[in-house]
Amino acid sequence: MNETVLNVIPLPTIRRFPAYLRVLKYFSGEGFEWISATKLAEDLKLKPIQVRKDMACTGVEGKPKVGFKVSDLILAIEHYLGWDDTTYAVLIGAGNLGSALIGYKGFTENGLRIIGVFDKDRRKVGKQIGGVVISSLDDLAETVEKLNIKIAIITVPAEAAQETAKLAVEAGIKGIWNFAPKSLNLLEDVIIQKTDLATSFAELSAKMKDCCGEEGR
Ligand code: NAD
Repeated sequence: MNETVLNVIPLPTIRRFPAYLRVLKYFSGEGFEWISATKLAEDLKLKPIQVRKDMACTGVEGKPKVGFKVSDLILAIEHYLGWDDTTYAVLIGAGNLGSALIGYKGFTENGLRIIGVFDKDRRKVGKQIGGVVISSLDDLAETVEKLNIKIAIITVPAEAAQETAKLAVEAGIKGIWNFAPKSLNLLEDVIIQKTDLATSFAELSAKMKDCCGEEGR
């Protein structure tokens, strides 16, 4: 695998990697050893040229007539994403969204394991969600340090997001997956990834309006 190629993988390609993995794992489960760029493109409704460019980023070379070895592509993509190893994370905010995320079994496929859940509400402390006991925020720093956790998932109300993120960073967290609708101000060496369902819905709404006019919404 060519490491220099991997270092400069464009973001849109990285965003397509999970979809490739889903398809590749499906075909692997069906007993396919090889897959062509055309087949991948067909399944993911992409252009074959796009798929070939994306595959080139993985460092896996295709063979004429047969395409790419499925297992090599799975290994290369998972390795690039770090999904071949377990990433431990804590979640702060054991409410509706936090509980849904904890309960989502699919994260294990991505090597993500949420091993600590924290909440400010003392009535929630000691209760379990998704098999994880909710801890007091006072224990955050100790857990993060003891278990060497680098990622925190933030699912607190918007008004509490900044102070929560700051607390997490002070505890030693280096990457934040922020679900709260609030931009965070943190030191530059902290990686922040924001996820907002409203963004996806905005896209859907705009496309509906485009295709069906005002009534399409
Ligand atoms: P919720 O009220 O059910 O849960 C929030 C939890 O955070 C509660 O358990 C509360 O006790 C806890 N909390 C509040 N302040 C805290 C603090 N300072 N430290 C630790 N815990 C604290 O809310 P919800 O519906 O689960 O939503 C949670 C957040 O996720 C909100 O900011 C909401 O806007 C956002 N959200 C984002 C998306 C998205 O697409 N990104 C989707 C749904 C909800």
